[in-house]
Amino acid sequence: AQPPNGLDAVNVQVILRCRPPSKEEVAARTPQVVRCDEAMKAVTLTQSVPGASKQQTTRTYHFDKVFPSDTTQERLYSSAVSSIVEEVLEGFNCTIFAYGQTGTGKTHTMTGDIADELSAGAGVIPRAIHQIFGYLDGIASEYSVKCSYLELYNEEITDLLTIGADVPKVRIMEDRSGVVLAGIEESIVKSSKEIFALLEQGSSKRRTAETLLNKQSSRSHSVFIVTVSVREVTPEGDEVIRVGKLYLVDLAGSENITRSGAVEQRAKEAGNINKSLLTLGRVITALVEGQGHVPYRDSKLTRLLRDSLGGKTKTCIIATIAPTVQCQEETLSTLDYAHRAKNI
Ligand code: ADP
Ligand code: MG
Repeated sequence: AQPPNGLDAVNVQVILRCRPPSKEEVAARTPQVVRCDEAMKAVTLTQSVPGASKQQTTRTYHFDKVFPSDTTQERLYSSAVSSIVEEVLEGFNCTIFAYGQTGTGKTHTMTGDIADELSAGAGVIPRAIHQIFGYLDGIASEYSVKCSYLELYNEEITDLLTIGADVPKVRIMEDRSGVVLAGIEESIVKSSKEIFALLEQGSSKRRTAETLLNKQSSRSHSVFIVTVSVREVTPEGDEVIRVGKLYLVDLAGSENITRSGAVEQRAKEAGNINKSLLTLGRVITALVEGQGHVPYRDSKLTRLLRDSLGGKTKTCIIATIAPTVQCQEETLSTLDYAHRAKNI
């Protein structure tokens, strides 16, 4: 559908990645219920009907891209992400999300292995950093790169790059130039090596918190932000600074969100409502459907991402699923959520 008011169609790409079965799942011969067809951009979930083992229901979903379990990190990046990073270098704001049940490969996809030299296991973030510095090293213009790394848990933002016990709370403010974060460490980085050190530092802080706080990370979002500024001189001799921002978001586990996009009753009772995850779904639906009111203000995550969702920005959602029968209900929820985010 064409959005009203002559606005450009919202640029949201939804891609699906299925992880391979784990060693344990292979050893236990766990049945697999997901089939990916990369050429057809289709994923099919086959479920047996309870109490009638011979009967099956089959559902097929289509996405902008579908990546089967043998997809390498390199191929996912070159086929779905590198063109978005090019937009950032052109001066646009872009966001890449990983969405899915805990254990389906969000962190593997977004972060993966971190090392100075890209390894086969390196995920989206190290590859994006590599691409950004590869471009900047090859141009004559002056540039600067800044990065920050945040965690959002229970509608509170903490800075993963601040060291020490007395960490100030981060606040979101908005001014005419966009979203401004108060109380945040914004490091100026000169090389991909420096940025990798920060990424590793923040990721290990997140892992420590996970062990201490009983799997907090499955309920927290992490947001890695890279801001690239390039000084340019126009043919008329004017000086302009081109600024692009890239948000790389490893979302909280989607396990409490039902197929209708509501929160499961048990999760509600336990107080586990993930307001940001729910609001994100509503914001994306509003953008995709061209609704006049976009409820950015209803959660911290969407307020934080406001200037890089909608408008001239590009958004990519990587939905991750597991192939096995135990995960089938969550897989169905993820397929539904991701499908609703697709341009109609
Ligand atoms: P999540 O962040 O969604 O909870 P993880 O990224 O931690 O999930 O993945 C869970 C496990 O599965 C990890 O051991 C990870 O290395 C493995 N894994 C996930 N996706 C893949 C993949 N595409 N290929 C190989 N291993 C994967
Ligand atoms: Mg994770």
